[in-house]
Amino acid sequence: MCITMPISEVAKKRAPALPPPRVTYHRLRKSIHFACFLAFLALPFFDLMRFDIPRQRFYFAGYELWINEFAIIFFALMFLMFLIIGSSIAYGRVYCGYMCPQMIFSEASISFENRLRRWMNKRFFDWPSKRRNLAVRALFLAALAPVSVFLAFAFISYFVAPRDLLARLLALDVHTAGGIAGAAVTLIAFLDFTLVRQRFCTTVCPYGYLQGILGDNNTLLVHYRDESHQCIECKKCVRVCHMGIDIRNSPFQIECVHCGECIDACGDVLGRMGKKGLIHYTWGEHGGEAGGREPWLRRLGLRDAKRAIVLLLLLCYGCGLFVALGMRHAVLVEISPERASLYRIDGGHVYNKFRFNIANRGRTRSAVIFSLEQLPSATLSIPENPVPVEAGKSVQGEFEISRPLASGTQEVEHFTIAASPAGGGSPDEFPMTFLSPPQRSPR
Ligand code: SF4
Ligand code: SF4
Repeated sequence: MCITMPISEVAKKRAPALPPPRVTYHRLRKSIHFACFLAFLALPFFDLMRFDIPRQRFYFAGYELWINEFAIIFFALMFLMFLIIGSSIAYGRVYCGYMCPQMIFSEASISFENRLRRWMNKRFFDWPSKRRNLAVRALFLAALAPVSVFLAFAFISYFVAPRDLLARLLALDVHTAGGIAGAAVTLIAFLDFTLVRQRFCTTVCPYGYLQGILGDNNTLLVHYRDESHQCIECKKCVRVCHMGIDIRNSPFQIECVHCGECIDACGDVLGRMGKKGLIHYTWGEHGGEAGGREPWLRRLGLRDAKRAIVLLLLLCYGCGLFVALGMRHAVLVEISPERASLYRIDGGHVYNKFRFNIANRGRTRSAVIFSLEQLPSATLSIPENPVPVEAGKSVQGEFEISRPLASGTQEVEHFTIAASPAGGGSPDEFPMTFLSPPQRSPR
């Protein structure tokens, strides 16, 4: 008697058990790429980090910093510099593979072109292949033109206020310096993502070369290890490498951006045979695999004194930045005495003149109230008090302080000018001197 089984049943019985689904570096990278793309757009548009060249302002974490706020800019730049150095020493070129906008957009453009090709092959399979290829290229270039404009816009927004930039773009400005720069960056972005792509990483980008200097025996690497000759020469690790290299030749190839795609590929192929992949993230050429059983500080990459010192410096600059931002006043007041003539006497009063400068570095209109302390019977003469200041503007002016000319008045008296924000808040205090004519002793 012949017993027949449905085909699906047979297939179920014969199918080899698939390895359990793994968390792949590819999926992790794509999620990080997406997050970095959002960050690339958010940084300039929400003033999280932007150098406004025309207005000479540095925007950081929502603060509008003026170019003369040296301490904050210094701490911010040093913090960013040590962040790059520290991450390169500990994690090698992980930034290139996971966060670099050049890599993200290059991969996205290749992936888009491949999808377009697959779609054309499926939809227009009866066309001659030459015609299909031409159509794919034309469609791809046509789609990339507006994308390049958008990316160039986002990039230039790091240096010019997005609103100004949009006005220039809508006016099709290619006459002013800003307009010419915008057109040039758009063209560069277009050529970059259609022709250059990852070639940029191995020819022009200085970070790959810098990595060669910063890396050491404990830096994270992508390493092929096959002591027991398990490699089946399938070359999947080579095919998936978008940098076009064979990681089996050396873990120190300048093209390798430590993206981990070859780790996934090998793990996938050998995993189907019930074996472990041969390519791993390792701590240096001779170190153990990343993520192995060891103290959590070492697992995070803090593997020697050099890394601890870099982390300490990073924390110092981070704290300095935090304190400098905390101490920052949005409205900066400066007062200085006008000593071209020491004093003026008029109508039985002595007058001293002072100059002030108020810089409103905040985003809202503000006003400053001047008042006097420790100078009895003195009067402050100023055209307007409080003095209004528009957001992002500076106001300069003068005022006089007068006192009755009386006997017994000292030539030099110390007092304080207080400058208080009109909406409340702690006043700035400026110690000053009031000069009076010398008192002649009676004969
Ligand atoms: S994917 Fe793994 S098994 Fe295949 S060639 Fe590369 S290293 Fe060898
Ligand atoms: S060799 Fe591996 S880790 Fe290096 S770039 Fe190629 S796929 Fe990425």
